[in-house]
Amino acid sequence: MATTPRIAIIGGGPGGLMLARLLALHDIACTVFERDTYADERPQGGSLDLHPDTGQRAMRRAGLDAAFLAEARPEDQGDRLYDPDGTLLFDRSGAGDDRPEIDRTALRRILLESLAPGTVRWNSRVTAIIHAGDDRHDVMVDGASARFDVVVGADGAWSRVRPLLSAATPGYEGVALIELGLDVRRHASVDALVGGGKMMAVGDNRVLIGQRNGHGHIRGYAGWRMPEPAARALAAATREQVRATALAAFAGWAPHLIDLIVQGDLLAVRPLHALPIGHCWTSRRGLTLIGDAAHLMSPFSGEGVNLALADAADLAEAIASNTGWAAVTKFERRMVERATPAAEGAADGLNGAFSHAGVTHILAHYRERSAA
Ligand SMILES: Cc1cc2nc3c(=O)[nH]c(=O)nc-3n(C[C@H](O)[C@H](O)[C@H](O)COP(=O)(O)OP(=O)(O)OC[C@H]3O[C@@H](n4cnc5c(N)ncnc54)[C@H](O)[C@@H]3O)c2cc1C
Repeated sequence: MATTPRIAIIGGGPGGLMLARLLALHDIACTVFERDTYADERPQGGSLDLHPDTGQRAMRRAGLDAAFLAEARPEDQGDRLYDPDGTLLFDRSGAGDDRPEIDRTALRRILLESLAPGTVRWNSRVTAIIHAGDDRHDVMVDGASARFDVVVGADGAWSRVRPLLSAATPGYEGVALIELGLDVRRHASVDALVGGGKMMAVGDNRVLIGQRNGHGHIRGYAGWRMPEPAARALAAATREQVRATALAAFAGWAPHLIDLIVQGDLLAVRPLHALPIGHCWTSRRGLTLIGDAAHLMSPFSGEGVNLALADAADLAEAIASNTGWAAVTKFERRMVERATPAAEGAADGLNGAFSHAGVTHILAHYRERSAA
């Protein structure tokens, strides 16, 4: 690697922005290409809990732990579990856990405010990465191109960088989630249902989730198993059709659980995808991946953003070590080793939640965790 490499980061999600911040702390400049036209163009999604050894470690290294703690909600780490009749089977306050929640919007703002103006090039959808010889690559945006020594794919599930390194593509996980938004002031029954953190109601291959977010918001999810064409059709359906399909899927469930679907504003339909567990590639000078681009997994392990932040921290160290591409190759190996058990956990979590055994697996998992 050149002593002052020109670095492009594709994607201004948590992984890409954290990498830009940490490189800046090492006096290494970079450009982040982000397709969003501005920071708040689209809802960033629900709340995330940052884990001590991964997400929180990266925030500390970035000098952003105080900003994180100012926004974090340690009080929202509780778990509740219901059966489809609405019987509360498990209720844990979560007080004393070290996985504080933070809204995605707040996390993105903290990271963006830590960067020098101009670091992120908004409205820059990368359409191609072209090998330019000498291990360098041209990044194409809107028909124009710029050449870089290192291109980092931090561009999530459908990465444009990944195909240059690997033939793997995300596979459909057999489940789609309907994402819903609620406000505690208008939806007191859902507020009471969710409790101090997150609730799940689990039945035969069906799951309802309510997750407390900051500023009096609740994020809801209704998920069930469906074939991929049905998930695609649902993603293209009208709001009324989506709500009607969800209500039919949860027919017979307790009315106070169904309130999540009846009362929620429909935000998105999210078919879940994952890369093959243990996804890896032959290291190639000048190109690498972090976060979901490298190891997309279902959200049922709660590790995705934590891994993306930890990857960023470790890649920044590798680049700043100035010891050549071997340091990046070593980083890639370690990243795969760390992501593999998390991806196994995500697959187990999804299959445990969406099964004919209904609530049994999740109840056992919660009891095991609280006994540990
Ligand atoms: C419903 C749901 C719930 C989840 N809940 C949790 C949770 O509770 N805890 C947790 O840890 N994880 C959770 N995750 C996973 C988490 O969201 C991801 O793992 C995390 O966002 C990955 O960060 P990233 O930076 O790698 O990618 P992303 O967050 O996907 O960011 C990628 C960025 O790249 C940009 N981009 C994409 N393509 C291009 C392009 N061609 N040109 C320019 N820019 C581009 C995108 O606009 C985006 O800003 C959840 C995921 C889902 C779907």
